Amino acid sequence: MQRADTVIENGTVVTAGGGYPADVVISDGAIAALATDATDWAADERIDATGLWVMPGGIDVHTHFEEPDPRLLEGFATGSAGAAAGGLTAVVEMPQAHPTTTTPDHFREKRRCVEEHAIVDVALWGGIIGPPAQSAADLEGMAAEGAAAFKSFMASSSPFFPAVDHAQLLWGMREAARLGLPYGLHAEDHQLLNDGLNRMAQAGRKDALAHAESRPPLVETVAVNTALLLAEETGCHVHICHAASAGALALIKAAKRRGVRVTCETCPQYLMLNTDDLERLAGFARCAPALRDQSEVDAIWAYVLDGTIDLICSDHCPYTVESKEAGRSDIFQAPLGLSGVQTLLPGFFSEAVVRRGMAPERFVSLISSNPARIFGLYPRKGTLAVGADADIALLDPEATWTVSVEDALHKQKWTPYEGKSITGRVARTIRRGETIFDDARRGDDRITAKPGSGRFLPRGYGKGD
Ligand SMILES: [Zn+2]
Repeated sequence: MQRADTVIENGTVVTAGGGYPADVVISDGAIAALATDATDWAADERIDATGLWVMPGGIDVHTHFEEPDPRLLEGFATGSAGAAAGGLTAVVEMPQAHPTTTTPDHFREKRRCVEEHAIVDVALWGGIIGPPAQSAADLEGMAAEGAAAFKSFMASSSPFFPAVDHAQLLWGMREAARLGLPYGLHAEDHQLLNDGLNRMAQAGRKDALAHAESRPPLVETVAVNTALLLAEETGCHVHICHAASAGALALIKAAKRRGVRVTCETCPQYLMLNTDDLERLAGFARCAPALRDQSEVDAIWAYVLDGTIDLICSDHCPYTVESKEAGRSDIFQAPLGLSGVQTLLPGFFSEAVVRRGMAPERFVSLISSNPARIFGLYPRKGTLAVGADADIALLDPEATWTVSVEDALHKQKWTPYEGKSITGRVARTIRRGETIFDDARRGDDRITAKPGSGRFLPRGYGKGD
C-alpha cells in the first residue's frame, strides 16, 4: 500500500479544465495523485469531501495588507487569515506600504514581513512611482528579487506613491518590457480626475454620490486608452487593475483582438454593488474607481462573461471604521478602499456561477488559474495536477449564508457586503498540504496555521526550483 499525508476523498475536482469526481492524494505539500479511488492509499489524514468542490485555492492578485506600516491597519497575519477563510491560498501584495516597495532594499524588507507573518503564500508587486524618479537599477533589482509585476498610478492617490506622467509611463513600460514583467496600472486620468474633484468642491458637494460624479467611467476610459497606445508602442504586457468602465473594457477587448499584450481584472465591488450602495454606505463604499450605476455594472458583467476580463480580485484595502465613518458628513474625508478579501471567492461564485450560470471551469480560471498564469506562478499554483502545490479550497456549492462582520478574520471589522446572502461557502482551505482554515471550528480557532507559515513566491515560482 502506498503512503500519503492526506487524502481528500469523495469530492468533485474542479479545475480550469473541467470537473470530475476524483480523490486527491497529498504528500509533502504537493499533489501526489488524482485517483478515481484512493482507498489503496494509506494516509495520516482522510478528509471526506462528499458534496464539495475540490478546487485550486483562489489567488487574489490585488491586496493591500499594508506591511510594513507603523499603523498596521491590516498586516500579513490578519490579512492572510481573512484570505484563508475566503478559500484563498495565495495573494499578490501591492507596493503602497510604508516604506513603499520601490527599491530592492524595501522589497527585501517586505519579503521579510511575509516570511514572518503570512499564512497564505505571497508574491509581491514592485512599484514604479513619479518623481523623485527611480533608476533602471531599482527596477532591475526588484525584478531580480522576484517581483511578480510592476505597478503605477496614472492619477495621484497618495503623496507616498506619486503618479507617473505619460513620459514616465512610457519609460516604465519600456523597462517592464525589457525585464519581462507585467505592468499593472491604476488607470484614471489625472487631469480629468482633478477637474472632477475641483467641480465638486466648487459646488460645495460633500454627499456620497459626489464621489462617483467626480470620477465617472470616462476618467478611466481616457487613461486606459493612453495605456493601450503605449503598450502597443512598447510591446509591454500591460495589466489594467480594477477595470470598472464599459468604455475602457471595449477598448481592451479591441486591443486584445489586434494583438496588444493586455490583461485586466475587475473586483466584486464593481459587480455586486452600485451607486445605491454608495448612497447607503457612504464612506464604507468609497473606493477608486468609484462604484458605478447599475447599467454600468450590467455592462461590466458582459465583459466578465465574454472573457475580456481575465481575473477577479479583491483590492482589499483596510481602513478603520472611524475613518470610514467620516464620509457620512463629507464623502471626501473617507479614505479610498474597501475590505473584501474574505468574501472575494464565495461572493463571486454566488453571483457568477449560481446566479448567472457561469461554467465552473471558467470560474476557476478567473479566481485561480489566470492569476497564477499572469503572475508567474502557474502551474505549481492555480491548478490541481500531480506535482503542483496542494493549494486547495473545499467549497460547498449549495450552502447559503449571510455575510456578517462577526465572521470577519481580517483586522478592520466591517464589510460593504454586510447582510448579503451568498450561496457557496468555503469549508476548508489547504495551503501546500496544510489545513490553514477549517470552517468546522469556531471563531479565530478556524485558522489552523501559524503566521510565518506562508511562503514568499518569486515570479517564476511556477517553473519549479
Ligand atoms: Zn488597490
